[in-house]
Amino acid sequence: MDFNLSEEQLAFQGAARAFAAGEMTPHAAEWDEKKIFPKDVIAKAGEMGFCGLYSPESVGGMGLSRVDSSIILEELAAACTSTAAYISIHNMATWMTATWGTDTIKETWCGDLVTGQKLASYCLTEPGAGSDAGSLRTSAKKDGDSYIINGSKMFISGAGETDLLVVMVRTGASDSGPKGISAFAIPADTDGITYGKNEDKMGWNSQPTRAISFENVRVSADHLLGAEGEGFKIAMKGLDGGRINIASCSIGAAQACINHTQAYMKERSQFGKPLAAFQALQFKLADMVTELVAARTMVHLAAFKLDENDADKTTYCAMAKRFATDIGFDVCNDAIQLHGGYGYIREYPIERFQRDSRVHQILEGTNEIMRMVTARRILEDGATDAIR
Ligand SMILES: Cc1cc2nc3c(=O)[nH]c(=O)nc-3n(C[C@H](O)[C@H](O)[C@H](O)COP(=O)(O)OP(=O)(O)OC[C@H]3O[C@@H](n4cnc5c(N)ncnc54)[C@H](O)[C@@H]3O)c2cc1C
Repeated sequence: MDFNLSEEQLAFQGAARAFAAGEMTPHAAEWDEKKIFPKDVIAKAGEMGFCGLYSPESVGGMGLSRVDSSIILEELAAACTSTAAYISIHNMATWMTATWGTDTIKETWCGDLVTGQKLASYCLTEPGAGSDAGSLRTSAKKDGDSYIINGSKMFISGAGETDLLVVMVRTGASDSGPKGISAFAIPADTDGITYGKNEDKMGWNSQPTRAISFENVRVSADHLLGAEGEGFKIAMKGLDGGRINIASCSIGAAQACINHTQAYMKERSQFGKPLAAFQALQFKLADMVTELVAARTMVHLAAFKLDENDADKTTYCAMAKRFATDIGFDVCNDAIQLHGGYGYIREYPIERFQRDSRVHQILEGTNEIMRMVTARRILEDGATDAIR
């Protein structure tokens, strides 16, 4: 693994940074305040290839590595963490569709998904099944060449505005656990699908979050992703990458906060000196940067493990997600402290980064679940040296 970015990676980083500065930074505060989902800008991101980052070139995606994708998402998140996080979920759902979709599904959807002309949601969580996603109850019953879907999903990012739903449902018996789960790609406007209200959230205001109800929703069998019973595995494979993505968004938010803080500490004076002259604050900033560099390195390591299809990729993705989203939030929070009262008011972007990065510790598997995934592997027989 090379710790220096290659020339190509520097070019991706530069392109993403320029796009974010031109198309996202000037509008991020307004998107947050007015709860605007900037589909036009997401479509422009699609023109840059950012909606199909690691989807294969065979469907029109960029076919990038997860490390490259992380570098790009970090830059977008440093402008608008909430919008970048939605783009990251769209990338996950698009990749799942491109990887496990039937030829019909791929031909119908992937071209528009990778260019951001059409958008996707990932639908796993239910009102009664969050961390314990394997207990989900939304059901799909076979009926000739179709399935009939009934149930509900909760907290779905983009829902109500997206075009394709990647939905995990139970095709097995009610007590079949994860092995009875299948994944479907379902057009969002199919008869019988209704959407709840846009949830009023602490952050992530530039993307809607809604519950979804499925009432006798008929989908043909060619909308199945992979085989019947493979849905939970597919959902978790999607989430390995999703966790890298969301961790990258936390790093971007934290880096933006550090950049603002570096400048602010030189501008702002108290007791006749700039804040940058106080050693207590210098040490705080030094710790913030040190921890962020460690988190970024960890995320790139996990992304590398995923690219290499390492046997322990899932554990590394879980560790990196836990670590980087905790560090990311803490760095944003420390940046508020170093800005004093100005950090708390909306004239400065710091509080928005802090609000937006808070949910990264909760979704795509809470950080407690990330610890469970990690501990399970470490405590396996013979695993003493597996993770080091
Ligand atoms: C803004 C937002 C967007 C979201 N977007 C999506 C989306 O697009 N698609 C989707 O499918 N889901 C989405 N989610 C749902 C998210 O993934 C879940 O909220 C998350 O998985 C936690 O589930 P829960 O909320 O039901 O909490 P619970 O599972 O009820 O957990 C409550 C608390 O208990 C802890 N806990 C639970 N079990 C254990 C255990 N065994 N050991 C230790 N601690 C435990 C949890 O870590 C947490 O702290 C979103 C959520 C939010 C808030």
